[in-house]
Amino acid sequence: MTDSLDRADVVVIGAGHAGIEAAWAASRLGATVVVCTLAPSTVGQMPCNPAIGGTAKGHLVREIDALGGLMGQAIDATGIQFRLLNRSRGPAVWSPRAQADKRLYAEALLERLEWAPGVTMLYGQVSELIVQREAVRGVRLEGGHCLEAAQVVVTTGTFLDGLIHVGREQRRAGRYDEPAAVALAASIRSLGLAGGRLKTGTPPRVHRRSIDFSALTAQAGDEEPVPFSFQTAELPQPQVCCHTTRTNERVHRLVRASVADSPLYNGQITGIGPRYCPSLEDKVMRFPDKEAHQVFLEPEGLDVDEIYINGFSMSLPAEVQHAVVRALPGLGDAELIRPGYAVEYDFIQPTSLHHTLEVKTIGGLYFAGQINGTSGYEEAAAQGWVAGVNAGLRATNRPPIVLGRHESYVGILVDDLVTRGCLEPYRMFTSRAEHRLRLRIDNADLRLTPIGRSLGTVSDERWARFETRRQRYTTNTTRLQSTLVRIGSGDRVAAAEALRNPSIRLSDLVRTESALGLDLDPLTPTLDIASLDADCRYVGYVRRQEQEVLRAERYASQRVPVHFSFTDLPGLSRELQQRLTEVRPTTVAMAGSVSGMTPAALALVSAAISRRTLSATVAADDISSGGSPD
Ligand SMILES: Cc1cc2nc3c(=O)[nH]c(=O)nc-3n(C[C@H](O)[C@H](O)[C@H](O)COP(=O)(O)OP(=O)(O)OC[C@H]3O[C@@H](n4cnc5c(N)ncnc54)[C@H](O)[C@@H]3O)c2cc1C
Repeated sequence: MTDSLDRADVVVIGAGHAGIEAAWAASRLGATVVVCTLAPSTVGQMPCNPAIGGTAKGHLVREIDALGGLMGQAIDATGIQFRLLNRSRGPAVWSPRAQADKRLYAEALLERLEWAPGVTMLYGQVSELIVQREAVRGVRLEGGHCLEAAQVVVTTGTFLDGLIHVGREQRRAGRYDEPAAVALAASIRSLGLAGGRLKTGTPPRVHRRSIDFSALTAQAGDEEPVPFSFQTAELPQPQVCCHTTRTNERVHRLVRASVADSPLYNGQITGIGPRYCPSLEDKVMRFPDKEAHQVFLEPEGLDVDEIYINGFSMSLPAEVQHAVVRALPGLGDAELIRPGYAVEYDFIQPTSLHHTLEVKTIGGLYFAGQINGTSGYEEAAAQGWVAGVNAGLRATNRPPIVLGRHESYVGILVDDLVTRGCLEPYRMFTSRAEHRLRLRIDNADLRLTPIGRSLGTVSDERWARFETRRQRYTTNTTRLQSTLVRIGSGDRVAAAEALRNPSIRLSDLVRTESALGLDLDPLTPTLDIASLDADCRYVGYVRRQEQEVLRAERYASQRVPVHFSFTDLPGLSRELQQRLTEVRPTTVAMAGSVSGMTPAALALVSAAISRRTLSATVAADDISSGGSPD
């Protein structure tokens, strides 16, 4: 615990998914942390879907876990339906997803934070950031109390000047029944950072007892659920079913008839919303030919009455929502617990941030989560880890850490945000990864746990378990390389080589070839097998990707000499010569992002710079040894 509530190494504003990971990571590094949030009930809330993971988001959670973060363990402890998505496709895109008991999930995280060494919870509203001489000095709370800190992490989600819309009704709020952060929004605006307004929305919730489940299609979880955390030994909660239904012409007619009252369609909302997560109004109006859209009914917990209607987000007037919900098959008598709504809020343009998520112009001030223009719990948590760990490193006078695009989705997320900025709410997709075959959920620990350990975010217990797992992986790889198996009627070949044949799967070999004797984790044999299978099968691709990574690193460090001329470079098109001359990149990697640049042209530029640097060095050597520059 900190000695007082007057000063800390790191202050974290907000205890959503970003704030929790930020506080946890900073405290793991030995920093004292004060977490300021409105009330205990605001910690780890899931204001939208009561689920963690999904395509690419599941990758982020596995990575946060491998780095010693909390999200994976929290969902494993409280998950009530687990599914591994994209199982029919390659392991690079397998992604875990789980429904949470959202009350238990929030309680689990609150307990972890309250007991975390070095972390103090302070319940109240922050109204101002104290910034002097281009460095943050602390925060002021409503009521005037000041808290000194040289590192402040802002993770206020949708709260900055939050404005909620239900039909034509509007009110200031950060979430449905929580106050907006109006004073803090003004304080942040006064820093002069670029930013704007975004919006997101959530569907109505209905009472469990009012649903006719017999009219719905049941959707069970996996028979052998795969946990998120590399630490998890068991999944303690009973597993439940979700259900699906479909919209119909009646639903669509009701939406069309009331769309003028939707703030999304009557000009009331100006913030930009997530394109990939369209509201019901958007689905009906933008895709008029589509007769039905699938809708999922997901319980918000084991002993909770609320059922979340996934795929049914809307901000129509409450009475219209009631009618629209009742038009769904199986929901003819549905009782609405809470209407859906849209919320508009301030975000800051993440190009104002370094890769550590520290503001470029204000030392010690970090932003993480939805405030940086992202959407989703997992994207928020990943940024929280990055900002928290870097705030902790700064507080303890250590150099910052930046995860590369080639080693993690966390690195891709941060790099996309700070280099490209936000034009619409950002969500992670596997297609954003250049090195997808390497960045799998099964090997997140092999990629990242050693990094976490070297920083101090990975506990002794996790490290011991990891070392066993790494040893198991090495032993199994050796067995695959040395055990001969017969394929069809052909010769016997090493199992590792046999796996390059697309029709052969390691899961089958494990059953038929007892000589393999692989040592598999009893809880996640599927993932152990996936790691080994993929590493043998894709060995050629992965090596090529590793070469690309090395090349990218070389380009990033290869500087373009100040007076280097791109004109008349043999083999480079006149158009590219012109663009490069205009842009004047300072590194070869930057030249690579010039529009129209191809890998071949970039290799040519790199070679020309190397030749020029080499001849300049030779000339300098000649001069210093008395030779003639000619
Ligand atoms: C209505 C709605 C719909 C959403 N829909 C989607 C969706 O469709 N898809 C999706 O992926 N994500 C959706 N989300 C987003 C998801 O909730 C967020 O991405 C995620 O929670 C962001 O995490 P965060 O940590 O950045 O912020 P949050 O989880 O919002 O946490 C913010 C924290 O900051 C605290 N706080 C705020 N201001 C102050 C202050 N001044 N002083 C002290 N504490 C403060 C709050 O109490 C809270 O603890 C939705 C969110 C909302 C509200």
